[in-house]
Amino acid sequence: MTEAPLKTISLEAKSPFELRVNLGHGLPDVDKRTALATGEMGFLHSFTTGSTVDGPGVRVVGWTTGCQYRCQYCHNPDTWTLSNGIPVTLEKATQELRKYRYGLNAMLGGFTLSGGEPLMQDRFAVKLFAAAKGMGIHTALDTNGSLGERLSDEEIETIDLVLLDIKAWDPERHKQLTGMDVAPVLDFARRLAERRRPVWLRYVLVPGLTDDAEEISRIARFAAKLKNFQRVDVLPFHQMGRFKWKALKIHYALDSVEPMNQQGVDRALSLFREEGLKAY
Ligand code: SF4
Repeated sequence: MTEAPLKTISLEAKSPFELRVNLGHGLPDVDKRTALATGEMGFLHSFTTGSTVDGPGVRVVGWTTGCQYRCQYCHNPDTWTLSNGIPVTLEKATQELRKYRYGLNAMLGGFTLSGGEPLMQDRFAVKLFAAAKGMGIHTALDTNGSLGERLSDEEIETIDLVLLDIKAWDPERHKQLTGMDVAPVLDFARRLAERRRPVWLRYVLVPGLTDDAEEISRIARFAAKLKNFQRVDVLPFHQMGRFKWKALKIHYALDSVEPMNQQGVDRALSLFREEGLKAY
């Protein structure tokens, strides 16, 4: 495969809100296909350090590019396209992680792979998780859940924690919000429960879009019943990603939606807690 930093930019970013485009543009298609098939190369928006919101403790987060969803509220639409990411060999990504291994363990943290949708690059994700585990680093996968069938049961065991987005309960609403079906997400959640894998539910709360009480309660009941959902993170909608939609010239339907207020967040938290879930 071609070693291809086609544009030079640091893999490390201050935050995933840095706009990054076309960093893998020009890499031959054959190399992209080989990368996806073997997992020997991945496409990353960036690595960020010091996160305390993407799993337990302090985390290094690898932000992958490529996502098949088109969430109306997406904060990082520059991660939708695989070739917007930096082509990074598995070896280089592993080296990056190695730098942090002692610090991460000392801070009871670990490595989270987020995106984008990391399982769009499932072979790279699996190999990077295996490398992290080999260094004794706690691993977390932040996923929309729809490609869970790409992971074998053994591969699931290398992931210490799944941060699972359930974006809506009603199939029509889910489709309208993301462009994709909800059924595979719920199937993956059930499979994780059968295998007793720890899950944190992530729920993005958008005024007028995902704050319907019945909808939240249905998701809460589903999660509570599965018994492996250790906590729920309610993520209030904000407009920090709006500039990216504008820069990428994509129509942004939520332009005039206000950030979620505390009252709405408290209401959602109590709906999750009513089902016995720990919600924050
Ligand atoms: S799944 Fe995540 S990255 Fe993909 S469109 Fe939705 S919010 Fe954006």
